[in-house]
Amino acid sequence: MTSAAPPADPLAEIAVTLPVPGTYHYSIPPHLDARITIGTRVLVRFGTQRVTGIVVRRDTAGPEGIVPIAISDVLDAAEPALLPELVELCLWVADYYEAPPGEALKTALPAGSGVAARAVFALTEAGVLAAGASGAALPSKQRAVLATLAEGELAATGLSAPTRRIVEALVTQGLVAKRELRSKARARLRRERVARLVGPLEAARAAAGRAPKRLGALEALALNGNPHDEHGEWHVVADLARSVTNVGPALRELEKLGVVEIVDREVALDAVETGADMLVIDPPVLTEEQAVAVAAITAMLDGAAPTEPPTVRRPVLLHGVTGSGKTEVYLRVIAEAMAAGKGALVLVPEISLTPQLAARFRGRFGDQVAILHSGLSDQARLGEWSRLRRGDARIAVGARSAVFAPLANIGVVVVDEEHDGSFKQDEGVRYHGRDVALVRAQRAGAVCVLGSATPSLESAYHAERGTYARLALTVRPTARPMPTVEIIDLRTYMPDGEAMLSAPLRTAITETLAAGDQTILFLNRRGFATFVLCRACGHSFRCPQCSVSLTYHRHSDRLACHYCGYQQRIPETCPKCAATGTIERKGLGTERIAAAITESFPGARVARLDRDVASGARAEAVLSRVARREIDILVGTQMVAKGHDFPGVTLVGVLCADTGLNMPDFRASERTFQLLAQVAGRAGRGDRPGRVIVQTFRPTSPAVTAAAAHDYQSFFVAELAERAELGYPPHGRLVAVRIDGPDAHDVAGTAQRLADLAEVAARGADGEEPTVEVKGPVPAPMEKIRGQTRWQIWLRSPDRHALRRVARAVAAAVVPGKVRVALDIDPLSAM
Ligand code: ADP
Ligand code: ZN
Repeated sequence: MTSAAPPADPLAEIAVTLPVPGTYHYSIPPHLDARITIGTRVLVRFGTQRVTGIVVRRDTAGPEGIVPIAISDVLDAAEPALLPELVELCLWVADYYEAPPGEALKTALPAGSGVAARAVFALTEAGVLAAGASGAALPSKQRAVLATLAEGELAATGLSAPTRRIVEALVTQGLVAKRELRSKARARLRRERVARLVGPLEAARAAAGRAPKRLGALEALALNGNPHDEHGEWHVVADLARSVTNVGPALRELEKLGVVEIVDREVALDAVETGADMLVIDPPVLTEEQAVAVAAITAMLDGAAPTEPPTVRRPVLLHGVTGSGKTEVYLRVIAEAMAAGKGALVLVPEISLTPQLAARFRGRFGDQVAILHSGLSDQARLGEWSRLRRGDARIAVGARSAVFAPLANIGVVVVDEEHDGSFKQDEGVRYHGRDVALVRAQRAGAVCVLGSATPSLESAYHAERGTYARLALTVRPTARPMPTVEIIDLRTYMPDGEAMLSAPLRTAITETLAAGDQTILFLNRRGFATFVLCRACGHSFRCPQCSVSLTYHRHSDRLACHYCGYQQRIPETCPKCAATGTIERKGLGTERIAAAITESFPGARVARLDRDVASGARAEAVLSRVARREIDILVGTQMVAKGHDFPGVTLVGVLCADTGLNMPDFRASERTFQLLAQVAGRAGRGDRPGRVIVQTFRPTSPAVTAAAAHDYQSFFVAELAERAELGYPPHGRLVAVRIDGPDAHDVAGTAQRLADLAEVAARGADGEEPTVEVKGPVPAPMEKIRGQTRWQIWLRSPDRHALRRVARAVAAAVVPGKVRVALDIDPLSAM
């Protein structure tokens, strides 16, 4: 006699939020079936722990011959946490950036909302007794474990084999049991119970009979609601309870009679306070260029209905000089998208996400704007996130991770300051927010607008070839001229002492102080405080093979190229001008300079701003003192360069433009150009014209001369030619293999082995000329961070698929336990 097997439960493919590759199949038990769809968060068993997983597909076929485990629970109360389009986007991110899918999906969930559970062993009631006197007869090893358990439970993972055997023996005796501890989500939305009338009040009264409590509840529900509507308004039950005693039981009776509906819903949260007044600002009359840009972008938006498949729209590069009114263009385009019933996503660098910017968006669109800021508490961020998820807010403004904001039906995606390095995540899932934004927009059929005064070489290259549309804003709307820029050759004007001030800059500061205006002094000190150059001729040391600056390694007092490993000693004699004793190791720091400036200008009020002294609120405080004109001279790093608008600043001094150029990175010129152009944009925002003085040992470098002339195009042409010659992006693609671990010897050995492996993989099967170039292994410029030794291998190729094949071969290699290998696709930084 045979009996037919019962039909198997359907399967779901799930990404668990752990750093493990791939997705896993679980079965859907019947009682959870209705609640499981793509994007639902579930609790699943994974090894010995229980973790949050996200359903990426339903009703799929699982692998042959494996009996799937059932999903333990559903974590989402009503709607799935993630929209299907976001699930797809995250899977794309995981695939492109070679990251675990669960980790990629986690970046799309608000922080602190995850739930995890772990298995533990704990004493049963009998076990508690046995741990006391009654267990005296047990073997001593068992008694020892019982005593430990009496102190607290033991995690089921990580027990040594002998301990595990003892614990298992105790489980069989019924003294110990395995339990599950669920750690709660840190951030949670509040829920509330609401009720409403179904149908007209008269009919409900008739159904309620003559019970006074039911009638009282009905009256309360009819209040404020429209009793003639088919459905009344929702009322919060807790509020009703304040005026009607015992309203709960009465409502439940009415629910049974079918005249009242009761549900639980999330408490709608108010928009996060921006701390700035929400003035409604009248939009200005657009300049001609702004109007052209707005019209061109608006023409690309179409009707309210999403098309299937979405229409692919060319991304737009909005190239506008600093202060040209790009933000105003975004605001107008977003207004058009909203009018067409669509939402908008706006990404800005973390550093520009200021209360002023939030106020500008709120001033135009009110609480339709949700701000996603890393400075918010988990709770507040979850609140903003859920306002978007519910559709109560349709515009998301935030930094990098806001690219995953839960917005449906997006019309426009804006990436402001698209060249900014902070869009790239440099650990975990190493995605580039701008590039993910482009993909998201493309998939949603939205227009993607990339805005910048100094576009990245990649974006400008796309615009030049026509894959992006280019729109330009060449003048400032307020008719304020661009500041004049003077270049000071430090080889002629040796700066005096510690303050790093040449005579012309010193004079300019004195004049500015006398006029009662403000000065910003900028020092580019990213990464390195020390650089090596010839005092006489300005010569700095570059790698003969890689066209990047050599890095000074303090401990060995040598110069090294960390792309190819080339090393050299610092010579006594300058290889360029043959002077002897002129090679200097120059240390620069804002702290030393600020002190020296204070000494040089005794009457001036000097403040310093860099990451060492201030971040977040404290940086904000320094900046608002500058805005209130309580500071005469502000000395700082990158933090002073971006986005601020101080009418009182008429002089900007760049103390040494070369520090950036000496960065061991093929993007050094690009970054220096961008930074100089940004800093220069800080001067002359008010009524009086601005003046910029750039001190440099390399006055003829294209990054310096082009920035001084406000000439993006000439910089672009020069730099693109250089990149083409060496096969750097945008002409080739890069992958960095980053290897780190606590043991220097292990890390170096692994790096060498992986590089050899990459060489073999690059050669391919038939021994053809390799299309992938392997460079390294070399120690990272910052070779040791927090006790971890770091090495790198660089893979370079014009062929993305070949590059990927080699990268995967490297990542798949087995390495010693404590060594970590990570792939960085399209790396931005060499650090
Ligand atoms: P960007 O984003 O390009 O740096 P902003 O949008 O911040 O420039 O504009 C710079 C300044 O010019 C702001 O104070 C803004 O209010 C003002 N502005 C922008 N567009 C106009 C306009 N059409 N007419 C007058 N002022 C404008
Ligand atoms: Zn080199």
